[in-house]
Amino acid sequence: MNSKNEALFERAGKTIPGGVNSPVRAFRSVGGTPRFIERAEGARVWDADGKVYVDYVGSWGPAIAGHAHPAIVEAVREAALRGLSFGAPTEAEIEMAERLCALLPSMDMVRLVSSGTEATMSAIRLARGFTGRDAIVKFEGCYHGHADSLLVKAGSGLLTFGNPSSGGVPEDFAKHTIVLDFNDLDQVETVFRARGAEIAAVIVEPVAGNMNLIKPRPGFLEGLRRICSEYGSVLIFDEVMTGFRVGPQGVQGLYGITPDLTTLGKVIGGGMPVGAFGGRRDIMECIAPLGSVYQAGTLSGSPVAVAAGLASLQLLSAPGFYETLSARAERLVKGLAAAASDAGVVFSADSVGGMFGIYFSESVPASYGEVMACDRDRFNRFFHAMLSAGHYFAPSAFEAGFVSVAHSEADIDATVEASREAFASL
Ligand code: PMP
Repeated sequence: MNSKNEALFERAGKTIPGGVNSPVRAFRSVGGTPRFIERAEGARVWDADGKVYVDYVGSWGPAIAGHAHPAIVEAVREAALRGLSFGAPTEAEIEMAERLCALLPSMDMVRLVSSGTEATMSAIRLARGFTGRDAIVKFEGCYHGHADSLLVKAGSGLLTFGNPSSGGVPEDFAKHTIVLDFNDLDQVETVFRARGAEIAAVIVEPVAGNMNLIKPRPGFLEGLRRICSEYGSVLIFDEVMTGFRVGPQGVQGLYGITPDLTTLGKVIGGGMPVGAFGGRRDIMECIAPLGSVYQAGTLSGSPVAVAAGLASLQLLSAPGFYETLSARAERLVKGLAAAASDAGVVFSADSVGGMFGIYFSESVPASYGEVMACDRDRFNRFFHAMLSAGHYFAPSAFEAGFVSVAHSEADIDATVEASREAFASL
């Protein structure tokens, strides 16, 4: 055993399945030993061996202002001193709800939960309760957390219902989920013409971040909006990743489209476990205790997590925040693309706000199929070369990357410089 990371990974595997509490952390896709993080600050994380990395994972999105931002840490400390949780309402929850509803015009009412999974699961139940329908539409490659009805892959034909993509999900559940291709509006039209009256909801990552980064084609989201309105189905934008990450009003603000429901997470918790779902008043009023759709949580609206979230939202409202964030992400993807080109490596890159995608492919992919066709082996070698050089990218070719405003131009330039050697080694 020559490193503490290796020793910890071996020890972890004895009592934690795979040594991790969320699968992607195990480095299965890229191989090698996961880095056990001891601390993080600003744009950097330190592992158990004391090695420092410029971090492009950012806790998978929340660390938008940089790790351990003093204002967020202080808000957490102050809230914790007043008590960790009460199981009773607090004024801070109202502030959070008011803030979210003010920031997102599509949101009349919102409920807080403790994870993105809870947010999407609850939004789906709500859409079913509201419409009295069972079927839902999702898109291949979009991830919406691990609720049973969302762990579903495409069936054998367009109009057939999906198959479980995980053990433990009954086919009886999966059969209510129709899985279509992201960015293929014709498929959506066809399915709705045949079964529109059965479909409770369409759930979509409006900019997909769980199959690397895939932008919607012009007209795709507009088309979903039109079709859902026509058939009385609920349009759910899953903005757990994109919310307050791609811009001050999420993807809905960026493209000017109004979903019926929105799910949020990550950034609105400032690094603490928070999720939320909200939207149209007439739909939200179907939730207990007002309506018949049950939804609850012992720690929902945790005062400590809400304090972190409010502090995080406060930081985002600073003038120029998103301009800086977007400029840093653009500097990174442009720099990487230029370095790859100089090394003669087939590569493309893209960004939206503080989210980015890097692809070992000729051009930026626009579909799940195109992402799957990227050169995974090259990505894995690039990943490890960058990791050794002290630059921590997501340990999978199918995850988006994240920058924060704590990434200085010098940090980005150092990463681009390191990438020259990494690309050359491919
Ligand atoms: N929706 C999206 C778009 C996500 O990216 C994620 C998590 N990566 C989730 C839902 C699930 O969130 P959580 O992991 O907090 O349950």
